[in-house]
Amino acid sequence: MYDVKGNLHQVLDSLPQGVRLVAISKYHPNEYIEAAYAEGQRLFGESHEQELRLKHETLPKDISWHFIGHLQTNKVKYIAPYVTMVEAVDSLKLLKEIDRQAQKCGRVIDVLLELHIAEEETKYGLTPDALRQLLADGEWRTMEHVRICGLMMMASYVDDVEQIRSEFRQAYDLYREVKARYFADASYFCERSWGMSHDYLIAVEEGSTMVRIGTTIFGPRVY
Ligand SMILES: *Cc1c(COP(=O)(O)O)cnc(C)c1O
Repeated sequence: MYDVKGNLHQVLDSLPQGVRLVAISKYHPNEYIEAAYAEGQRLFGESHEQELRLKHETLPKDISWHFIGHLQTNKVKYIAPYVTMVEAVDSLKLLKEIDRQAQKCGRVIDVLLELHIAEEETKYGLTPDALRQLLADGEWRTMEHVRICGLMMMASYVDDVEQIRSEFRQAYDLYREVKARYFADASYFCERSWGMSHDYLIAVEEGSTMVRIGTTIFGPRVY
């Protein structure tokens, strides 16, 4: 089996204090997750609703699950009863549906707004202006069952470290702007989820509070 234990500790040792690891376990079997769990890891991320449901049902209940992928509104109801955080909210429609389903479950669900800064067209997320508009619109203030805890983003998948760094900086600038304008008094608005296997060391230098790392811990995914 892949050396999950060794890799996990290597990653954890490389993170500054205050940066949390979301171990991205998508496409990896339960035994890999159990190996990380045995080392004390309790926070995992998945990007497909059915896979997450199966894992939630069969793995220890004190695991916190973050939904990190693109979430269709018709899937929200399946994860609303147990998911800890939805990291990639990229529309008002999705935010409203999470609020609606969380209310049905009598829960408040933490979410991050996903920012699109990368140059790749394929990435999801709100452009800076779309993010500003969503917040300016104000409807989110009426939603009592979602709590907006910060921003999430994926940098371009490139080798150019300066480009990656510049995208993380743009994300942090936007985080500061939004924090000051809408969440200055909200201590829970404090999360900056950026950094994956290939760029997390840059991400933590650029103010990430939450890195999402899969491959470095669990090895290559078999799709
Ligand atoms: C799969 C995925 C990750 C983890 O990527 P690795 O390169 O395996 O570390 C992080 N964030 C999101 C949104 C993902 O879909």
